[in-house]
Amino acid sequence: MNIEVKTSQETELVDITGSVKEVVSGAGVEDGLCVICTHHTTTGIIVNENEARLKEDILSMLDKIVPKGAGYQHDQIDHNAHSHLKAILLGSSATIPIKSGSLALGTWQSVFLVELDGPRNRTVHVSVR
Ligand code: ZN
Repeated sequence: MNIEVKTSQETELVDITGSVKEVVSGAGVEDGLCVICTHHTTTGIIVNENEARLKEDILSMLDKIVPKGAGYQHDQIDHNAHSHLKAILLGSSATIPIKSGSLALGTWQSVFLVELDGPRNRTVHVSVR
């Protein structure tokens, strides 16, 4: 099942927990695994706390580690090497257990699509087994 996400910023964290939970509850799996995977090379999937200042901290951390336009080879092609490199640091998927038919997330855990080269229309695949 795919989740379609329309992002609105160049970089942002989009909480997709509710959409992932809908897929899981529709799947009818009692105990299993949910794999959430982005289809794009300039987005990441992370699990963390949905707190406004933390979300800003995550984006500024990525800017510090991978500054824009720092002489990357790929920028000679389409000027978004920093977006790809940030995506590599975050990873393209998350795996979350399913217990008693529900996502086994901790109290403060949410699933985010991290937009790193937006705004764009994005597709996230959710697989439940
Ligand atoms: Zn590129």
